Amino acid sequence: MDDSISYEAFAANVAAVEERIVEACRACGRKPDELTLMAVTKTHGPWAIEYALRYGLKCVGENRVQEAEGKRSDKPGQSGDDGIRWELIGSLQSNKAKLAVALFERVQSVDRIKLALALDRYAAEYGRRLPILLQINAGRDPAKYGAELEQAPALLEAVLGCANLDVQGLMTIAPLSDDPDVAMRTFDALREVRDSLAARYGVALRELSMGMSGDIPQAVRAGSTMLRVGTALFGAR
Ligand SMILES: *Cc1c(COP(=O)(O)O)cnc(C)c1O
Repeated sequence: MDDSISYEAFAANVAAVEERIVEACRACGRKPDELTLMAVTKTHGPWAIEYALRYGLKCVGENRVQEAEGKRSDKPGQSGDDGIRWELIGSLQSNKAKLAVALFERVQSVDRIKLALALDRYAAEYGRRLPILLQINAGRDPAKYGAELEQAPALLEAVLGCANLDVQGLMTIAPLSDDPDVAMRTFDALREVRDSLAARYGVALRELSMGMSGDIPQAVRAGSTMLRVGTALFGAR
């Protein structure tokens, strides 16, 4: 199905989202260049990736390994300086870990030790050190993937023991809610768990991947460093 919009419409959407980010930064005294805008291209055809690349966005997010395999023609690290980073943001089964290592610059959805060990093994096979984020269920949402807050220390400890994984931070998805405070509390909780893990284990965990089309201001306020935005850029899926 061709659900494409025009490039001009996409560019106007990006500009509007960037303006919202600038506004949110202004309201809380942050600098917009502390945040990266990820274009979430899941379910859309290759046009969405072309648009993101043409606009100069730095990364795209996909949530299914096999869908990404059908869209990606180059390999991680091969697209050169003008390329775009592919990141996996959807839940990953261990039996697809090998394909994930072959396809993505970074995996944001590492939520359990078994998966981390599988990624570590395949990263070694491919001769690369795989950047990852730990996905945490910071909103205690029964419908969401991610390690529970209590499991985060054990997961981080295991990952720090993996020579071929480079843990760069944390990721979360806020529970679906009409109440904007739910996202605010979720994102504050993620930052707090990051701060305590960073102090306890002496690692930076700089990246906080949080915020989507519906909760950008809360994410910016809570300290997000990466916004994952789909609908506001490409339209409804
Ligand atoms: C789909 C998705 C997004 C983007 O959501 P929008 O509401 O379309 O901006 C962000 N993060 C994850 C993990 C997703 O699956």
